[in-house]
Amino acid sequence: MRKNDTTVVKITDIGVNGEGIGKVDGYALFIKDAVIGDTVEAKVIKAKKNYGYARLIKIVHPSLDRVEPRCAFARKCGGCQIQEMSYERQLAFKEKKVRGNLERIGGFSPELLDQVTEPIIGMDVPFEYRNKAQFPFGTDKEGNPVTGFYVGRTHDIIVNTDCVLGVPVNKEILEIILDFMKENQIPSYDEKNEKGLVRHVLIRYGFTTKEIMVCLVVNGKKIPHADRLIDKLAGIQGMTSITMSVNTKRTNVIMGDSFEVLWGQGYITDYIGSIKYRISPLSFYQVNPVQTRKLYSLALEYADLKGGETVWDLYCGIGTISLFLAQKSGKVYGVETVPQAVDDARENAKINGIGNAEFFVGKAEEVLPEFYERGAGAKSGIEEAAERCGDGAAGEACMAARADVIVVDPPRKGCDETLLETIVKMAPEKVVYVSCDPATLARDLKILCDRGYELERVRAVDMFPMTVHVETCVLLQRRTM
Ligand code: SAH
Repeated sequence: MRKNDTTVVKITDIGVNGEGIGKVDGYALFIKDAVIGDTVEAKVIKAKKNYGYARLIKIVHPSLDRVEPRCAFARKCGGCQIQEMSYERQLAFKEKKVRGNLERIGGFSPELLDQVTEPIIGMDVPFEYRNKAQFPFGTDKEGNPVTGFYVGRTHDIIVNTDCVLGVPVNKEILEIILDFMKENQIPSYDEKNEKGLVRHVLIRYGFTTKEIMVCLVVNGKKIPHADRLIDKLAGIQGMTSITMSVNTKRTNVIMGDSFEVLWGQGYITDYIGSIKYRISPLSFYQVNPVQTRKLYSLALEYADLKGGETVWDLYCGIGTISLFLAQKSGKVYGVETVPQAVDDARENAKINGIGNAEFFVGKAEEVLPEFYERGAGAKSGIEEAAERCGDGAAGEACMAARADVIVVDPPRKGCDETLLETIVKMAPEKVVYVSCDPATLARDLKILCDRGYELERVRAVDMFPMTVHVETCVLLQRRTM
């Protein structure tokens, strides 16, 4: 195969990014938007020695798993990758992705994985599930402000205020903002010359409380005539928080370092299960609340708390998992690098009347070893630890040096090796690993399983239907010597 060759090929497999894979005389072609079972005509755009990339020209025979996408921009937009695949097939793909990584990178045997893997948890309705959306703003050829989504891997904007993954109120809000910008000659930010004002708009929606937050990210200290905009936005039912975040840097980071309240309060509230969460524009909060409840209930089930346990929740964000666990355990310690998130976590504990959760700002791989070193020696049982450590603050710190359960929920890059080493030293009975990247999950599990842990349960949860992302919850049990 050479560049610009056209070929007809049957799609027999799927790549990690959701692309279809077909083979022509043993030569693999990766074809975006092709679904397993399709026969497609494709044109080679890049040819390597053993494989190449091709563009889908025409579907000759559609797969039985192919569905009509709900969004007209499904192929172009960088948000969704597999909207043209039936939801059933999407779930099967994600299960396979997790399993493939655990076999290849984790080195776990197919027999063991057959035993420990539970079926993926999907959604009943896999649309309109996102409680958060960040819309980039730009300018069209006529000079009008526009918003929508980035074309995959670029900063070109697809004009669309009506994403099928988001909540319907997004459209109403965006149109108010666009009208306001037009009427008051307020320009969108232009990345090239670093001029213009409105960079992004962040919208958050509380699924249970129906509270709405709008945060305008701007390249300047002030929004002219902001009161006119606020008047309109505040009229939307559920509007709770209108804020502005200043970001004047040349950067891909969306939000500025801080925000100021323009109207209402600086946060919205939402519930996951019976726990109330306070969410500010800068805090991390899971974007799919329906599936988050299922994922955290699973983490709680895996932790199998009886009450009285000491639990560490590393990478705790605003304390979401910590507070879930605190209901059933003796004490929970959370660690998170973002100070605002830790403020939120503490506030969340307070508003829920949870007194047995404590949070620390810092890197998990630094905070946990510090606690461990400080209290080393007190490893066997809470009573014994308390006795050895004495009462008061020192006693507390010493108690924290041990753990019955450690939960980790790291970002995509996974856990730092220093952290894994400390976990092994602390030797908790159980480790619950919540992961958003099966490859780093597999890498980290291999380390833990080489050093005293047993893979007990694995279950994927689909937090992001229509995309290739998958969340996984894993239970590791300390091997009895
Ligand atoms: N468990 C939380 C957040 C998970 S996302 C929830 O479910 O809501 C991962 C979190 O890890 C983010 O909040 C990020 O700020 C934080 N983080 C990233 N690197 C970290 C590190 N080295 N130590 C501690 N937290 C970290």
